[in-house]
Amino acid sequence: MTDEPRATLISTLTCPECGAHHCERMPEDACQYFYDCPTCGAVMRAKPGDCCVFCSYGDVPCPSVQAMGRGPASGT
Ligand SMILES: [Zn+2]
Repeated sequence: MTDEPRATLISTLTCPECGAHHCERMPEDACQYFYDCPTCGAVMRAKPGDCCVFCSYGDVPCPSVQAMGRGPASGT
C-alpha cells in the first residue's frame, strides 16, 4: 500500500534571520529563488550552488532535485 506522492511538494523553510518556520508549497515546474519571510520580512535567496530557496532553507529539496534522486547539497 503506497500512497506516497512522487515528490514532496511541501517544504518547511527556516528563516535564517528570525528562525521562524514556514510551510510552503513548492512549484513543480519552476525554481523559486526568493522568499519573503512573513515573520520578519527578511528576503531569503538561494545560496550559491542551490537552485532555489527550498534547497537552501527548506527541509525538503525542490521537486526537480527530488526527481534527479538527489538530496540537498551533500558534498561532491
Ligand atoms: Zn524571518
